[in-house]
Amino acid sequence: MSRGATIKDVAELAGVSPTTVSHALNGKGRIEPATRERVQDAARKLNYRPSRAARSLRTQRTGTLAFLVPKFEGASPEARYDLLLGRSPRVMRLLAGARRVSGVHGVSDYSARSAKLGGDGWVLVGDAATFLDPVFSTGVFLAMATGERAARAIDRALHSRGRVDAGDFASYQRQANRMYARFRKFVYNFYDPVFFEAFTTPHPPEGMRAAIVTTLAGGVERVSPMMWLWTRLMFAGVAIDRWTRKWRTPARASAS
Ligand SMILES: Cc1cc2nc3c(=O)[nH]c(=O)nc-3n(C[C@H](O)[C@H](O)[C@H](O)COP(=O)(O)OP(=O)(O)OC[C@H]3O[C@@H](n4cnc5c(N)ncnc54)[C@H](O)[C@@H]3O)c2cc1C
Repeated sequence: MSRGATIKDVAELAGVSPTTVSHALNGKGRIEPATRERVQDAARKLNYRPSRAARSLRTQRTGTLAFLVPKFEGASPEARYDLLLGRSPRVMRLLAGARRVSGVHGVSDYSARSAKLGGDGWVLVGDAATFLDPVFSTGVFLAMATGERAARAIDRALHSRGRVDAGDFASYQRQANRMYARFRKFVYNFYDPVFFEAFTTPHPPEGMRAAIVTTLAGGVERVSPMMWLWTRLMFAGVAIDRWTRKWRTPARASAS
């Protein structure tokens, strides 16, 4: 597997220590101009990119500024960022002298999912495998459920062959993805007003209430036929309601 050049590779090529490379590239310390040039040259040749994640771990600072807002205003992410900054003299004061070193990005979904959950000698569980929006508090349950399953897969493989390969996690990956998918459906729909209304109905049919409570309490591993049916009915009802509302809205708008 190919890997990017590290600070040690640059140091070796330039004939200096990693600390000198760090100082030369970050404009710190007292470095001879010729040494700095040699380091920059080596970094260019090796296409060396300092890892921002590694730097954050070492300095304990991310250098990232984030705003949490209910709604974005402004044409571009940069314009939105400037607008928000302009509204906060306190943040402006904190940023006095700071230099913007990257683009402005927006995130509206905290979910993350790893495409592959296991390989030769490694496996991902819990948040490392997938993180769902915290609204239904699924994190600890999924961490435990995936952890137990991955441990079982490892145990089986070690007992039978004395090592663990990607193929040993195929079944684990299928099971984990099925659990995530069941929760994800609720999480994504939660932000849809039509679903939300159905979800918060004060007097839902008992079967539907039981199916939802069971799912959200972690009952996503073995789904009974009744639970499956009621959940399906709920999502079908929401889909029909959504479609009906969409269909009615333009008619109302053109009539007014
Ligand atoms: C503020 C907050 C509130 C939450 N509330 C809830 C809730 O109410 N209910 C719920 O279900 N979930 C909740 N969650 C989510 C839940 O905490 C996580 O989904 C869950 O802890 C994931 O478990 P994990 O074992 O995958 O990861 P973690 O619990 O993050 O454990 C990973 C561990 O690995 C360690 N580690 C990391 N890197 C290294 C390394 N290189 N070497 C050695 N160790 C390392 C970390 O220090 C950590 O102890 C919440 C999360 C947050 C942040």
